[in-house]
Amino acid sequence: MTLTRDQVVDLLSLIVAHDGRNPSESDLEAWSEQAALGRWTWPEARDAVITHFHHTSEWIMPSHVAVIIRGRRQDKASRRMAEHRTMLNQPASDTRVREIVDQVSASLGWVPKHGPVLSVPCPHCHAAPGYPCTRSGRTGKPDIAVAAHPSRRDKADQESQR
Ligand SMILES: [Zn+2]
Repeated sequence: MTLTRDQVVDLLSLIVAHDGRNPSESDLEAWSEQAALGRWTWPEARDAVITHFHHTSEWIMPSHVAVIIRGRRQDKASRRMAEHRTMLNQPASDTRVREIVDQVSASLGWVPKHGPVLSVPCPHCHAAPGYPCTRSGRTGKPDIAVAAHPSRRDKADQESQR
C-alpha cells in the first residue's frame, strides 16, 4: 500500500506550491517509484514535504522525503518501545491485577471464591461451603484443575433455582 497516482500528483502540486517547479511526466514517474519503494503513506509524504520546506528552501528530491519519513517512523517505533518499557517497569495497580486475575480465571473456567457454586458443600469431596473443592477431602489442597466438582455445580444450580 502506497501512494496512488492521484496522491503523487497531489504531492507534486504541494511541492509546486512551495518552489514553483514545473513537474514533468517523468517527475511523476520518479516520485511514484520512490513512494512505492519507501511505502510512503499520504499523511507521511505530505508531512515530509511540509517539514522540508519548513526547514529549508533546498530543491526537494524524493530522498529528502524518504529521510524525513524514515526518521519519523524510527521516532514512532522508539516511542512505542519506551512506552512499552515504562509499562513493564510499573508495578500494576491492584485494580489492574484484579482485572487480569478475573480474565485468566474466566478463560480457565474457574469459579469466583464467593460465587454461588461455593456457597454449597461439595457432595463429591465434601468441601465446606465457602471452601474450594479439594483433591483429598475436607482439608486437602484446593483442586485448581476443577475449582468446583461437577456435582457441586449441579447442586448450586439446583439451590439457586429454588
Ligand atoms: Zn468437590
